[in-house]
Amino acid sequence: MAPVAAPTHVPTHHDHAHDHGPDHELARSRRPAWLAPAAVGVGVGLASLYTAWQDPNTSSGLFPQCPLREVTGFDCPGCGGLRAAHSLLHGDLLGAFDHNVVVTLLLPVLFVVWLRWMLGSLGVQVPRVPTIPKPAWVAFAAAVIAFAVVRNVEGVALFEYLHSTT
Ligand SMILES: [Zn+2]
Repeated sequence: MAPVAAPTHVPTHHDHAHDHGPDHELARSRRPAWLAPAAVGVGVGLASLYTAWQDPNTSSGLFPQCPLREVTGFDCPGCGGLRAAHSLLHGDLLGAFDHNVVVTLLLPVLFVVWLRWMLGSLGVQVPRVPTIPKPAWVAFAAAVIAFAVVRNVEGVALFEYLHSTT
């Protein structure tokens, strides 16, 4: 009579991917959930400090130059974004709008997105935000494209205001 083998559980890769048991908890405890948002926060925070301290309006800092602007002289939708961040960090909201209105409006949104990520990873209950409907995304994309075009139009005061330079 053959001995009945005791049922042994051999962990496999398949198990690991689908098991939400102790293995999963262990992996979570080894790398805490707040590590990624905290790392992003520290990185962006240091970059912000540098952007606040060094003026991107001058070429003395280690700031990346926009390749499109370098070659063609045209502003891309992101041009003036660092200068806008610099103005914003110095409390100059109007100056920030003048450099890049889209980036200036997006920065607080990105901050809130990051804050929700950070708080959520710490187990803080964050209020749910309604899902953004697809037409709103399409409208936003269209607005960014329109911005990219009209900010390079010369001779119209409103459009010249959208230039990355003052
Ligand atoms: Zn650019």
